[in-house]
Amino acid sequence: METQWIHMENPQEAERGYEEGIRLLLAGENVAFPTETVYGLGGYIGSEEGLRGIFRAKGRPSDNPLIVHIYPGYDVGRVARKISPQAERLMARYWPGPMTLIFEKAPGLSPLITAGLDTVAVRMPNHPVALELMRRGGLAVAAPSANLSGRPSPTTAEHVYEDMKGRIPLVLHGGACQVGLESTIIDMTAEPPMVLRPGGLTIEEIREILPDVRMDPGLAVKKDAVPKAPGMKYRHYAPKAPMWMALGSPEEQEEQIRRGLLAAKGSRRGVLTVDEHRGDFDAEVILSLGSRQDPEGMAARLFDALRRFDEERCEILFAESISREGIGEAFMNRLQKACGGKTLKGDDDGRTGISGEDAR
Ligand code: AMP
Ligand code: MG
Repeated sequence: METQWIHMENPQEAERGYEEGIRLLLAGENVAFPTETVYGLGGYIGSEEGLRGIFRAKGRPSDNPLIVHIYPGYDVGRVARKISPQAERLMARYWPGPMTLIFEKAPGLSPLITAGLDTVAVRMPNHPVALELMRRGGLAVAAPSANLSGRPSPTTAEHVYEDMKGRIPLVLHGGACQVGLESTIIDMTAEPPMVLRPGGLTIEEIREILPDVRMDPGLAVKKDAVPKAPGMKYRHYAPKAPMWMALGSPEEQEEQIRRGLLAAKGSRRGVLTVDEHRGDFDAEVILSLGSRQDPEGMAARLFDALRRFDEERCEILFAESISREGIGEAFMNRLQKACGGKTLKGDDDGRTGISGEDAR
């Protein structure tokens, strides 16, 4: 299959992009489009073929449900039931934005979207291309991230092309995603509501509306913890090489990484660092996410860096960690997953230090 690529930042091209995008979606085909979090791989919620195509193109397990994307003016009551006053307040404040809400599903919604669950995930993305595509077509679009299953989510159209070339007919190119991490998922069917995945909307922002919101205890990276969002249980966000995370003060982290690098000498070593430490390491590949003072910028560049380590064919990776405040919570959640919970300091899984196998 030929994969078309249309530049939405050019106004004339954009017209063609919307027309072609809507035509394909209604015909049961899949279209990748930009959002403020990551690129989405869309299928029209009214087309079984379009929904099946998403799982096929991504190689996504069928028990991992999709997020229904809507636009201003689309009644959320068409896809979900029992919208609480609390949910109304969240939507009024944070939509369009990086917040996904879980509701009871409306009858008639395809089980392909919900993976057979009786709940549905809904979000209104804050990106002009995503919103205009849906508004012009008058259609809601089910979409997960537009990566091959298991790879880091795509934050540029180039990432999408890398993974989806030959698998889908159209990529709408809208530049780099501003947030760069996926949406925050909040389960509104739980009492009190529960965060199932930290993301672009911070816990502090949610607490302004929901002071008693809880975090899913299953989010802790422990062997026996089972997260409630089905997608969170899969290996995710991971570069090909094993990655180890440093912990503690910036000085302690620097020391841990230096020791790790020494132990792994002879392998092609990569370091994920910050501008403040860029010159401090002796490694084959050194990538900085920007200044530690700019966690939003670091978050926006994380997935691109993970993909670059793959391109660079690194064999072992070390990463600096950041404070869990604000966007730091979501950043650290993805970094921990990318590391499979492995730290250079020691953790309660006992996966401490670098084994000989990982160092090779
Ligand atoms: P992605 O957009 O690729 O991050 O995939 C959508 C995410 O939403 C996955 O982690 C799903 O497990 C999660 N999700 C979708 N529907 C539900 C639901 N009904 N309950 C809990 N999590 C959901
Ligand atoms: Mg995904």
